[in-house]
Amino acid sequence: MQRGGFTVRVDIDTSPDDLAAAANRRQVREFAAALQALAADPRFADLHVEITDPLAAAAPREQRAALVAAHQAVARFQERRLRGWHGLLDERTATQILLDAAAPEVQYYEFKIAEEARVGADWLWVWLDPAGGCFMVLVQAKSAKAESRRFAVDLGYRSGKHKVLQMDLLLESSRVFGVPFAYVFYTGTREFRAALECAKPGCEGACQDREGVDVLWLAGLSADNLRMLTRPREWAHDVMERGLPLEDMLGSGGPLPPFHDLNLRNSEVLPEGLREPIAAPQGPAQTAARMVLSQISPIRMGQFSAVDPVAVDLPGGALFPQLPRDRGHFPVPYLPHVLGGLRAEVPGYVADALAGRTPPDWVTERLAGIVVVPPSGAAAGQQVAPQAPALPNRLWSPRQAA
Ligand SMILES: [Zn+2]
Repeated sequence: MQRGGFTVRVDIDTSPDDLAAAANRRQVREFAAALQALAADPRFADLHVEITDPLAAAAPREQRAALVAAHQAVARFQERRLRGWHGLLDERTATQILLDAAAPEVQYYEFKIAEEARVGADWLWVWLDPAGGCFMVLVQAKSAKAESRRFAVDLGYRSGKHKVLQMDLLLESSRVFGVPFAYVFYTGTREFRAALECAKPGCEGACQDREGVDVLWLAGLSADNLRMLTRPREWAHDVMERGLPLEDMLGSGGPLPPFHDLNLRNSEVLPEGLREPIAAPQGPAQTAARMVLSQISPIRMGQFSAVDPVAVDLPGGALFPQLPRDRGHFPVPYLPHVLGGLRAEVPGYVADALAGRTPPDWVTERLAGIVVVPPSGAAAGQQVAPQAPALPNRLWSPRQAA
């Protein structure tokens, strides 16, 4: 503190409510910027401005750190709601908070119309590769719930007039896009779960007490495998056991765990050059592909059906034009299903979103929006894409945390 000067101290709250109210944050930021400009003016040399803004002042985050922060933002909001005797956040609100808190390192483009019930998909997540390719996954958000004092997750959800299984809709959408699907589960807080019972014999709630499981993801084929194999009352336990914290889509922060796949280890059926991107993935796109596969390959290892090594063609644009059609007991050939999401180039509809153009109707009709995880190294705050122009009556608008 200097003699004769005076200090203006601004503490910007980063409570979940503020995260949700992006417009409020923008106003506070503008006010803070105006104060900073004043303080920089030599005529006001005595004015000291101290601004505490954990979001703006934070060093650029790596993409994984941004996902950790997003995960924590959802957890804080859940805590606050439960303290006020409200239920858990619904999937849509939780996703909104998640994506707002992950920005700007992770960007999202929201479409205004999402007929989730009809098409069975939520968001398309796209991990960009520095070399120009990407990996894509359709992600369906799902909230856990209390069901007669039991901790429950519904993998058998049916929607619409015809009560179509949501997982079948997801599989269908995954075929349309040529990418795998996954679930993101919002499982509340440790306190919420501790008050509920786990129905898995012998578990006694240990599954609910793990670190970092408030927001976890599970590859679609792994969830499908659970749905077929285990009793509905045990789904919650199995999801908690198999799921990984959301941020682990980008690796677990350390060396990747060892990885074995029945088909990939048989070099004779391996397409040229496949082993590298999966065995030693480089960048977020390949890492995410490896992480999705690592939730599926071990299941195939445990299935006793004979390997079916015949190669099938993947849709155009896939990084690997052919892969073994082996499916084990999965509903689809699992390698083409997962690795179809790995592309040599970003598809046109993602490029549209990045460039501020409206993607075609078949895309906007099926998705709530597109999430883009840029390659690591893109500076925080630096946009991957230009801000979209105002599009009257169009379906989508890009979102950034203010
Ligand atoms: Zn359990």
